Amino acid sequence: MNTIISATDKLICLTDNTHHNHAINPPIYQSSIFHFDSLDDYIQYRNRQKEAYCYTRGNNPTTRILEEKLAKLDGGEDCRVFSSGMGAIAATLFAVLSSGDHVLVINDVYGPTRAYLATLAKFGITFTIIETEQVVNLAAHVTSKTKVIYTESPGSMTFAPVDLQKVASFAKEHNIITIIDNTCMTSLLQKPLQLGFDVAVYSLTKYTGGHSDVIAGAVVSSRALLAQIDKQGYKLGGSVLSPHDAFLLLRGLRTLPTRLEATAKITQEVVNYLQHNPAIKRVLHPLAYTGEYLKIHQQQTTGITSLLSLQLVTTSTAKTKVFIDNLQTFSITVSWGGFENLVMVQEIAHFAAAKSDKIIIRLALGLLDAPTIIADIEQALLKMEACNE
Ligand SMILES: *Cc1c(COP(=O)(O)O)cnc(C)c1O
Repeated sequence: MNTIISATDKLICLTDNTHHNHAINPPIYQSSIFHFDSLDDYIQYRNRQKEAYCYTRGNNPTTRILEEKLAKLDGGEDCRVFSSGMGAIAATLFAVLSSGDHVLVINDVYGPTRAYLATLAKFGITFTIIETEQVVNLAAHVTSKTKVIYTESPGSMTFAPVDLQKVASFAKEHNIITIIDNTCMTSLLQKPLQLGFDVAVYSLTKYTGGHSDVIAGAVVSSRALLAQIDKQGYKLGGSVLSPHDAFLLLRGLRTLPTRLEATAKITQEVVNYLQHNPAIKRVLHPLAYTGEYLKIHQQQTTGITSLLSLQLVTTSTAKTKVFIDNLQTFSITVSWGGFENLVMVQEIAHFAAAKSDKIIIRLALGLLDAPTIIADIEQALLKMEACNE
């Protein structure tokens, strides 16, 4: 599968039309407040008769440049950036949900999002989780109280794709708000709003930052929905992005298309190698799915994520540890989306795609070349085979 990132999107990532004394990089407006020329000016601003910057918990010129770029990349009307992906997700759910509402969750969404939904039980908000196969009969899973359908495609650990157009058209018929966490595709490889979704949420910590040095999030949607999220979830929730972090993300955006193209090539080679390795029982990645799933993936995306999971043939925990501990080019830790290779282990026995085994290993591939990665995996597997436990 070729990675296609449009020339328009590359232009948005790489160029700036903002004017700041011809500086090639917009300055970091490291200011909490902005002042007014007269009291009349301030009053006009308060009465919404005049646009101005006033307080960075509301708006800041550097973060605004980032928001405008992200809104354009998704084809959305507006965007707000947050101090973390969870800040963006929590603000969105808090703003759109009310006591008594139900949320239908599709696919293995990010664990802390499920944990946040569980905390909303104290406000009488309930949720149920279904798997991608159950999308064929969505009507069986919604109730009159279902206010939101929330999904991730591909899912966080199993990477199964969800038919987004089908979900969006069902939700529109039933007056349900659709939210997708599009972190692992970015708006360069998958544009959910153009497939009919109402809201796209992101952790910018991952691909957009790209260098493992910033925590940030974003919400893109229609102007009307964003105004609600802005008022209830952003300004009052308070998890706003700092101008310095916005600057780092603008820098990350400049290389995002090139990084995504590079990691897609690397990932394709590594997935292919793993699929043909007799020590590997199963590879979980959109490219490793077949039939209808692969078709859906190809229809709604223009590239692939560099995240993948695998299951070893061995079920020995000791051997699994030997394999992971001997990987030389992978650091053992959480998160992903940077230049470096990362590995972590998770138990997701509750999901069908991984049901037969408890442990799955997740690899996040960075910019190191595929032959080096493959040689590393090869030597770690040999050390594992040599261990007699
Ligand atoms: C990391 C992540 C988040 C949370 O983002 P933070 O920036 O860590 O708060 C949400 N969704 C997905 C899919 C993620 O990978």
